[in-house]
Amino acid sequence: MTVRHSPGHRGESRDLAVNPLFSREPLRVPRYALPQGQMDPDTAYQVVHDELMLDGNARQNLATFVSTWAEPQALRLMAECAQKNMIDKDEYPQTAELELRCVHMLARLWHAEDPRHAIGCSTTGSSEAAMLGGLALKRRWQHRRRAEGKSTERPNLVMGINVQICWDKFADYFEVEPRYVPMEGDRFHLTPEKAVELCDENTIGVVAVLGSTFDGSYEPVAGIAAALDDLQSRTGLDIPVHVDAASGGMIAPFLDPDLVWDFRLPRVASINTSGHKYGLVMPGVGWALWRDRDALPDDLVFHVNYLGGDMPTFALNFSRPGAQVVAQYYTFLRLGFDGYRRVQQTCRDVATRLAAEIADLGPFELITHGDEIPVFAFRVREDIGNFSVFDVSAALRERGWLVPAYTFPKDRTDLAVLRIVVRNGFSHDLADLLLEDLRRVLTRLEKQPEPHRSADDTSNFAHGAETKNVRRPGRH
Ligand SMILES: *Cc1c(COP(=O)(O)O)cnc(C)c1O
Repeated sequence: MTVRHSPGHRGESRDLAVNPLFSREPLRVPRYALPQGQMDPDTAYQVVHDELMLDGNARQNLATFVSTWAEPQALRLMAECAQKNMIDKDEYPQTAELELRCVHMLARLWHAEDPRHAIGCSTTGSSEAAMLGGLALKRRWQHRRRAEGKSTERPNLVMGINVQICWDKFADYFEVEPRYVPMEGDRFHLTPEKAVELCDENTIGVVAVLGSTFDGSYEPVAGIAAALDDLQSRTGLDIPVHVDAASGGMIAPFLDPDLVWDFRLPRVASINTSGHKYGLVMPGVGWALWRDRDALPDDLVFHVNYLGGDMPTFALNFSRPGAQVVAQYYTFLRLGFDGYRRVQQTCRDVATRLAAEIADLGPFELITHGDEIPVFAFRVREDIGNFSVFDVSAALRERGWLVPAYTFPKDRTDLAVLRIVVRNGFSHDLADLLLEDLRRVLTRLEKQPEPHRSADDTSNFAHGAETKNVRRPGRH
């Protein structure tokens, strides 16, 4: 991989200039080469600190799903654990113990049949958890096929085209054919009928998403499981489900306890969530859980030494920080079930109110309402021709708000939307400030004769909701 220098780079002469304000020796710092000598730590700190000022204000970033606020006590614990390596189970047995407790708490939250025997692990995020979930599905399918004396040549994975980009990566890196159910009309995610249509004897599993990155909607996991039950009774094909609950796994248990999407469905083999999304921990931590030992083939598991005993591990990384896992345990203790419910309910209240008020402004039409995960998407009404969602996104950015605009995938590329992710820390007050700015922006945009920006001019990053199989020049 080549390192791309920033666009302003003009060769070696573009050193970093250190302002003499610091009254230290005049200093030139090479931008892209390791400096020859040492530097005073305070000077180095200030250089890095100043450059990072340009990063923008995370609290106004309505694009990301990832936590941008944490309690000072969580941050303090993370600093105290900065040196702890998650793989060193033997040296840091208590960190390993806290990880295990988190797995058990999640197993209970997701209704594992026997939570004491649930298996799972922390990861760097849902992407790694998805790789592990997908690998387990693939390995199980291979074992079954070999036992039947059949070919293991052409595995496939069935999912909606709205899956987060980590599933495209899984399919690509681990050589599984991705079978995407396309969008059609107003159907923006996977449905039971469409999922089953694409399944065959080479299907290692179906991925159902609880909280689609495109519009925040829940896919009908129970319906998909029922359709696969029916498929099995008709054809004998037994196809497991992995639930990508990156966001929804920490929303639905608290706000939609009657929604059956988790291990209550026998067909659900594994679930992932992002601890650093609605798990309310700073990046990066995720979780992967399997319903039982049968769902995670033992030959995928490696063993490390742990207090003189044996500790099974399943991970892509070896070394990895322990601080986030500790922060996850802290947050579980600190909030408890009721605390999580209050935080998530507040997010949903802010999201649904903001969505309703945006609908009332006139020029917008809601795609979703913020009442599943607290995320919603909206478009500019079809009859409005003089400004685009990309204009709205750019105009909001003038006030520091990051609201991504993007087009939907194949078959609905005509549909361009804006999306708002409401996270802990995005209060009703901040929502009001955003609405005020949106109103101000609209009075200007409504006067312009034609749209100024299209999908090609946007620099927005949509956090995995980018269009698949389209590598735009210079943007891979
Ligand atoms: C965010 C997200 C992912 C990727 O998760 P990371 O924790 O960012 O690696 C996967 N799937 C869905 C549905 C997501 O929302």
